Amino acid sequence: MTVQVGKSTSVTDKIALDAPIFDPDAFRLNNEQATIIAQARELGQTVFAGRAAAYDRDAMFPTENYRDLHRAGLLGISIPKKHGGLGADYQTYALAAAEIGRYCGATALTWNMHVCSTLWSGPLADDLDMDAATRAEHERRRAAHYKRIVEDGAIYSQPFSEGGAAAAGGAAFGTEAKPTKGGWIINGKKIFASLSGHADYYGVLCTEIAEGEKASRRNTLYLAIPAKADGVSVVGDWDPLGMRGTVSRTLLFKDVFVDENAALMPRGVYFQAAMRWPHMFLTLSPTYMGLAQAAYDFTVRYLRGEVPGMPPVKRRMYPTKQIAVAQMQVKLEQIKGIWFQAVSEARANPSKEQVLRAYAAQYSVMEGTNEIATLAIRTCGGQAMLKSLPLERIYRDSRCGSLMLPWTAELCLDRIGREALYETGETDD
Ligand SMILES: Cc1cc2nc3c(=O)[nH]c(=O)nc-3n(C[C@H](O)[C@H](O)[C@H](O)COP(=O)(O)OP(=O)(O)OC[C@H]3O[C@@H](n4cnc5c(N)ncnc54)[C@H](O)[C@@H]3O)c2cc1C
Repeated sequence: MTVQVGKSTSVTDKIALDAPIFDPDAFRLNNEQATIIAQARELGQTVFAGRAAAYDRDAMFPTENYRDLHRAGLLGISIPKKHGGLGADYQTYALAAAEIGRYCGATALTWNMHVCSTLWSGPLADDLDMDAATRAEHERRRAAHYKRIVEDGAIYSQPFSEGGAAAAGGAAFGTEAKPTKGGWIINGKKIFASLSGHADYYGVLCTEIAEGEKASRRNTLYLAIPAKADGVSVVGDWDPLGMRGTVSRTLLFKDVFVDENAALMPRGVYFQAAMRWPHMFLTLSPTYMGLAQAAYDFTVRYLRGEVPGMPPVKRRMYPTKQIAVAQMQVKLEQIKGIWFQAVSEARANPSKEQVLRAYAAQYSVMEGTNEIATLAIRTCGGQAMLKSLPLERIYRDSRCGSLMLPWTAELCLDRIGREALYETGETDD
């Protein structure tokens, strides 16, 4: 598969393309990275931005966007090249996702769930320990998952939240996989399952537990359950404040059989990843990095009288507006700086400093984006919060970031404080 760069739609001819959030020269990106990220930005600006209001208004999944992502090769962005994907590394994916989030938060956030199924089973799993036989089996299984995505446009989701302590990493998942001949029988419930009713496969984290065994986080399995399998159902409504197009309803699994090939990671590898590859949980942040840029861009255009469809009234001459924009720009650059560094450091066995920086980056992006969006509304004024303009959607979407487990804003502070003050195994006794 090759990246289709250049003019993906005729709209490109009519609008000036935005500058990248991270200039390739300034941030020392190579040509291949810059090309993939530019592709995401162009698709976001020329196609997704125009559809975002309707998905948000109707809390509707962005199905059309997924067709476009497939056509552009971006469903396979992190699938290794030898399996037909674009072979993007963590940093490249994160930068591309930020560009999509800039134009449609719900598309970027759900795309993240999909991409993680390939990132975690792909480059991330390659960094982890497996014996040769296990690695060979993993290679065979993931090839089948990747083929579905690259050739058929299959969409994967990533429901792990259950409403208890499991999603925060504090307990074993309550969703159970009972070993049976040739596979597992799954029973359980996932809440806030983005892409419910729209994904082809639900990449479920569950606990493998044989009769009479005690549940353990070490026995976490990561299984792709076909949405059409007997015993899978989607229940409940979805009418939230923001990120409405994610359609994050409740999934129920009742005696669902999946065969062994459903495994996205071999036994024990998810647990190993959670211990050794912590940046795997930072992937919800790119969406919000993009929203921060979007709130800033809107404010500058609005104050310059350049928002399409609005009278060309300039408001930039007021010193209070200039100070507010300066504050937004400072905040944006702070977020960009720490976030770029953190996504560039994603690897197995990061240092303590890198882990603390990853928590700090997640916190800064999730809280800072909402601060920028809040300031944007106050600065632009009443007309800017009308639903006919994107800022109020950006504001609502940005509010959701710090609620995302396992690295909610609160949990990031909790971990930074504890891990900064205690070395592993240290107590006050
Ligand atoms: C738009 C959107 C899309 C989502 N999509 C998905 C998805 O696709 N897949 C998925 O798995 N989840 C998804 N989530 C779920 C998300 O990660 C949370 O699980 C969800 O918001 C429900 O969490 P809660 O705040 O009710 O959780 P609770 O566990 O009730 O936590 C409440 C708050 O308490 C704090 N807290 C929790 N545990 C601890 C602890 N041990 N120590 C200290 N404080 C703690 C946290 O700050 C948390 O915000 C999505 C959420 C949103 C908003």
